[in-house]
Amino acid sequence: MKLIFIGPQGSGKGTQAKIIAEKLNLKHLSTGDLLRNAQGKLKKEAESYMNSGKLVPDELIIKILKEGLSKPEIKDSFILDGFPRNLEQAEELNKITNIDKIIEISISDEESIKRLSGRWNCKKCGIAYNVITSPKPKEEGKCDKCQESLYQRDDDKPGAIKQRLRVYHEDTEPILEKYPSVRINGEQSIKKVTEDILKVLG
Ligand code: AMP
Repeated sequence: MKLIFIGPQGSGKGTQAKIIAEKLNLKHLSTGDLLRNAQGKLKKEAESYMNSGKLVPDELIIKILKEGLSKPEIKDSFILDGFPRNLEQAEELNKITNIDKIIEISISDEESIKRLSGRWNCKKCGIAYNVITSPKPKEEGKCDKCQESLYQRDDDKPGAIKQRLRVYHEDTEPILEKYPSVRINGEQSIKKVTEDILKVLG
């Protein structure tokens, strides 16, 4: 199965992509994670765009995506999280492979801003906590699993959040107008959203 998860920042698409990938034995491919884990020149090139909430240039991200998709274990069973982000990327993806379903996880801008401003991540294992919604860390500022300090992504700071939402509405949403997708209400519990996605996938 080849799936795309699309949703505004804070919709929980990354969380759901991880859960569903595990349940259905698919590979989770997040272009945001690939960029955050990049090294050297690539990291430097991507960082300034990412920190200010802008999209990195298509050429760069498409190269990274192609590398990711070419791995044999990923080829025919994956969830794409964070790609495509605009119509050009969607068209490029069409040339590489066919997709079975696009799942849109929908939340309001207000909810998105509320959720993102509470988001803290572990430096070491990457787990995301949320001090406004959940899961909250047991001890403030520390990861439950590895005790490492938590940090807030630069692009989860208020100015960047607004910019990222603007980009979502202007560049990413047109994909949903052009290609058939299934909308899931993201303003429910994590468990309920997972159930709704699994129902749609049959
Ligand atoms: P995410 O973790 O998906 O929110 O991505 C974090 C940041 O990485 C985005 O704000 C962009 O700067 C960059 N990024 C991730 N995926 C893409 C993409 N498909 N196209 C362009 N930039 C991307």
